[in-house]
Amino acid sequence: MTRSYDVMVIGAGPAGYVAALRCAQLGLRTACVDKWVNKEGQPALGGTCLNVGCIPSKDLLQASEYYHRLTHQFQAYGIRVKDASIDVPAMIAHKDRIVRGLTDGIATLFRANSIDHIHGHGRVLDSRRVEIIDPKTAKVNEVVQTTHVILATGSEPAKMGEASTDGERIVDSSGALEFQEVPKRLGIIGAGIIGLEMGSVWCRLGSKVVLLEALDTFLPAVDQQLSKDALRQLQKQGLDIRLGARVVSTHKTSKQVTVHYTDSRGEHDLSVDRLIVAVGRRPNTDNLFAPESGVSLDERGFIDVDEQCRTNAPNIYAIGDVVRGPMLAHKGSEEGMAVAESLVGRTAHVNYEAIPWVIYTEPEIAWVGKTEQGLKETGEPYKVGVFPFAANGRARAMESSLGFVKIIAHAETDRVLGVHILGPIASELIAEAVLAMEYAASAEDLARTVHAHPTLSEAVHEAALAVDKRALHKAN
Ligand code: FAD
Ligand code: AMP
Repeated sequence: MTRSYDVMVIGAGPAGYVAALRCAQLGLRTACVDKWVNKEGQPALGGTCLNVGCIPSKDLLQASEYYHRLTHQFQAYGIRVKDASIDVPAMIAHKDRIVRGLTDGIATLFRANSIDHIHGHGRVLDSRRVEIIDPKTAKVNEVVQTTHVILATGSEPAKMGEASTDGERIVDSSGALEFQEVPKRLGIIGAGIIGLEMGSVWCRLGSKVVLLEALDTFLPAVDQQLSKDALRQLQKQGLDIRLGARVVSTHKTSKQVTVHYTDSRGEHDLSVDRLIVAVGRRPNTDNLFAPESGVSLDERGFIDVDEQCRTNAPNIYAIGDVVRGPMLAHKGSEEGMAVAESLVGRTAHVNYEAIPWVIYTEPEIAWVGKTEQGLKETGEPYKVGVFPFAANGRARAMESSLGFVKIIAHAETDRVLGVHILGPIASELIAEAVLAMEYAASAEDLARTVHAHPTLSEAVHEAALAVDKRALHKAN
């Protein structure tokens, strides 16, 4: 018998599984098809984010940060530890346990919400029919009827002809989460978010890390005052970040990889034990549409959607990494919830102006809204307040006083236009800034908000005061 649903979600990453959960909560009969299998060959929900993205990378960042603090910082508190060492397989096993717990958790949530989890590759025949293909045999298992389709097929690591991955010496971000020993020499192509996070993990554990970045500017999307300071801090930690470095070719032997690259000074060779390719991600639309489905892609290969995530085909929506906008888990989840709401006739909206970004280096980098360089380009008048963590008591007590909070407000209306944080747990501090922007707050609103003492959030408060040149714990 043909199964039939109100909504068929293709892809169970943070965009798709959240869409499915919200659809089910709203009373829609929902199924979610996903083809992911974990290391044990078992179907696993959660997509890139839970299996090989946000969660495992943060687990390894946490482990390596603990290790680094133990070996480099704890002495400052009088804590003496003899013979500290890192057991890499145990660290990887911890990561696997956390991932397993969370991916199983999604399966539990699906069951609790009566969502049918179908394992397989989904292919859209038309607005009403989705074909389920067995990923192993490539045979069609069934054709499911549906009223709406939500495409949430995500993305995968971009490949480089000059450095093809082999799962051994040359790996992508997923492979970088599986090393069983600390590579002595580690090369990374791409000093974007993923390259920096993976570089930080292995550098803290003892690798000599070199990042080759094609662009001349470090983190061009980040406010340049922050990115310059961040570059300095990361280089001090030992990350050798080479800008303007274009990889031309790689040569592999059984012992090492030699990367041939050019920069403004000429041609160079870099020999490393392992190489991570982290040059971005591409939308996943392979074999997703039958020709008659009528869904179009944009010029960069993303599924073309409007502000409400509607594709050009009726009743077919697309969300998450497979559509325009930042490739971030929370952006996809918000789109998933918004589409679900719209299916039952509710008003839904994603505020693309207030999406936080985080890079989980140490110090962390987090921001929301406009950068100073962006405002200079558009000519919008602005004023700036900056407050350093060096003047924040909690940060000092934590031995984490690098970085600063920078608030940019409109010069005339005082409305917060952007907040940029380089510093301890910036990933959590940015939430206040996102809320402020969501509520169209002014810098004065933040300045008049009481912040607990002693907390890191006082740095946000002081930066808001600094917008009006009245910060208390620094000279204005
Ligand atoms: P995905 O998570 O990619 O999920 C798509 C799912 O669809 C997958 O399970 C895939 O197998 C399945 N699928 C694809 N095609 C089909 C098909 N035809 N049929 C059935 N199933 C299909 N983002 C953050 O916000 N914060 C972070 O800290 C962060 N860290 C990251 C670290 C790393 C190392 C990486 C690689 C990414 C990180 N990201 C982070 C990005 C984040 O993982 C993605 O933005 C997010 O996973 C996108 O969600 P999605 O649901 O759109 O797609
Ligand atoms: P992200 O988009 O954050 O994943 O970062 C990917 C990074 O890889 C960007 O900073 C790109 O500029 C960089 N990149 C892309 N292609 C190359 C290349 N061929 N050599 C070096 N860096 C690259």
